[in-house]
Amino acid sequence: MIRFDSVSRTYAGRTVVDALCQVSFEVQPGETLCLVGASGSGKTTALRLVNRMVEPSAGRVFVDGVDVARQDPVALRRRTGYVVQRGGLFPHLSVAGNVGLLARLDGWDSARIASRVATLLELVQLEPATFRDRFPHQLSGGQRQRVGVARALMLDPPVLLMDEPFGALDPATRNELQAEFAQLTRVGRPRTTLLVTHDLAEARRLGDRIAVLAAGRLVQIGTPAELADGPTSIATTAFFGSDSMEVGGAG
Ligand code: ADP
Ligand code: MG
Repeated sequence: MIRFDSVSRTYAGRTVVDALCQVSFEVQPGETLCLVGASGSGKTTALRLVNRMVEPSAGRVFVDGVDVARQDPVALRRRTGYVVQRGGLFPHLSVAGNVGLLARLDGWDSARIASRVATLLELVQLEPATFRDRFPHQLSGGQRQRVGVARALMLDPPVLLMDEPFGALDPATRNELQAEFAQLTRVGRPRTTLLVTHDLAEARRLGDRIAVLAAGRLVQIGTPAELADGPTSIATTAFFGSDSMEVGGAG
């Protein structure tokens, strides 16, 4: 469970996440909340407030009921898988090295790591025998992104943070990974997922609920159908546009 409670973040006097100031919200276990908004609206900042890569200027963020400010950052990050744009893989580590990294730091024995890595590579549809010894430069963009997802799931974190995970991919690969998303993120324990995207169609397809950010403010939150039915704010209407109000569909 993730809860934003009157959170804001300021840089040099300029408030970039304010949103979260006006309305507090929660993301439940098993739920995917998509944060959508234009570039610069504060999506990445909001995400990083959860794993303490950014500290709030005011307000509090809770993970599983405990203020993250009171949680050890290293322990917190083990419990919050983080998928960054373009995979964010370490170029000098093999696929297996990247995926198993956190478990290695946690002192797992090598057999257990190898077995978990193989399970995860299968989950993200990369044949372990073919891919585990490759390096990131030997992978396509889509394959790198798959490895990034596998890495984030290594320690079976209850919380998953995904920052434009499919944003840099060609349309066909993006479509394929979106279609696999539920499987990728919902195996194992019920996960609380916060997924950032600037693509409304992606948010509709993947989100149980959507939160719309505009200039750091949370302007609306609801299910895809609720948002399509009645955008209550000018910013939401502007962001959604006039041609994107129909409900449902994968588009
Ligand atoms: P998004 O992910 O929606 O594109 P960000 O959360 O990355 O937006 O950024 C929101 C705003 O905060 C932007 O105007 C950005 O320039 C600013 N910002 C983000 N990080 C910093 C920082 N470390 N220092 C100063 N300004 C920042
Ligand atoms: Mg961003």
